[in-house]
Amino acid sequence: METELIQRLSAGNAIYRNDGDGARRLDTARNGQHPYAVVVCCSDSRVIPERIFHAGIGDLFVVRVAGNVIGRHALGSIAYATEHLGCRGVVVLGHTGCGAVEAALAGHAEGFIADLVDAIREAIGAERDPLAACEANVRAGVGTVRRALNGDAVNVIGAIYDTATGAVRWLSEGV
Ligand SMILES: [Zn+2]
Repeated sequence: METELIQRLSAGNAIYRNDGDGARRLDTARNGQHPYAVVVCCSDSRVIPERIFHAGIGDLFVVRVAGNVIGRHALGSIAYATEHLGCRGVVVLGHTGCGAVEAALAGHAEGFIADLVDAIREAIGAERDPLAACEANVRAGVGTVRRALNGDAVNVIGAIYDTATGAVRWLSEGV
């Protein structure tokens, strides 16, 4: 990696280490994590779950994959959090202006990206409206998690994050 990039990352880490969270870091390092929720969201740099939900170290168990696609590895992560860490709820969080959903709507992708786009295309079906497609993709993710992880035992809900306003809109239950 370019030296300039490493310097930029190191400078950020230096600020982070002096941000006043030292006690919380030590506590969770020594006593383990007890996150209260799982958030499955997109890798998009504008979608930062800990910031969006004003959460700190040890609060959220986050699974991030472009387009919040939920495959077996993601399910394994969610299962670990709900079965072993005591997370009581799972949020599948889509967002406005999702590039992965737009790529699925546009149609063509190759290589590793095609793996994501194909999964999203299957989730959105015939939907052509970007926001409705985003919601359909979230609903499909909610269904996937419920089917895989015994939906009765784990609360799963879908939501859409608005990248312009910062607001989270919860999708209705029974999606
Ligand atoms: Zn996205």
